[in-house]
Amino acid sequence: MQTAVFDGDDTLWETERLYDDARRAARSVVEESGLSGNLWEQRQRLIDVENVRIFGFSPQRFPISCAQAYEVIGTGAGVKLDDAVGEAVYEAAASVFASPAPLVDGAEEILRSLASDWRLILLTKGAMEVQGRRIDDSGLADYFTELRIVDRKNEEVWSKIIEEFAIEPEASWSVGNSFHSDIQPAVSCGLSAIWIPAYVWEHEHEQADVVLPERTARLSSLREVPAFLDSQEWSER
Ligand SMILES: [Mg+2]
Repeated sequence: MQTAVFDGDDTLWETERLYDDARRAARSVVEESGLSGNLWEQRQRLIDVENVRIFGFSPQRFPISCAQAYEVIGTGAGVKLDDAVGEAVYEAAASVFASPAPLVDGAEEILRSLASDWRLILLTKGAMEVQGRRIDDSGLADYFTELRIVDRKNEEVWSKIIEEFAIEPEASWSVGNSFHSDIQPAVSCGLSAIWIPAYVWEHEHEQADVVLPERTARLSSLREVPAFLDSQEWSER
């Protein structure tokens, strides 16, 4: 049976804008304390990428990175750090998890049109609580026969998912925005892949100049997915 495995964040719903909004709010707090918002933001972006190694994709990472950036630039500027400012920065940043993530244009329509011919699986990476809420907020859960939240999407995790859901790799596709999570490991496991490299954060920037693996198509929007899949020839059909 042909299966399409969809990614969630920045494939079906947009999270980057939420991060931008939260970062802007945290930056204002830093600026109000008299420090440079610009320096803070540069540092915050670096620290946040470094912190993936320590915190992974836990919901604490982003607010911690924001608070640490305040400490680093405050110390650098020789000012006395103010715990209240640090906490306000953390809180402003943590608002990223309180706001619902808007759906990517056409997300629901596309899943509805695919659902008659495809078994649809949602495989999303991140913290259980945050992802669970995003799935609920999205209103898309009913289009999927299976939903899975994982803390990483490497080859090992993909293999387990393939086995657990009896996915036939040669008749199945992974659809996602992250080359390293949605494309590379899925293709290594024998699936084909549709890569939609939408707006992504620094951690994913290294994906800009990758060489496309075999059986991988790069599309510029989710709206192109149904026509593209229809145009493929299926040995199973
Ligand atoms: Mg994603």
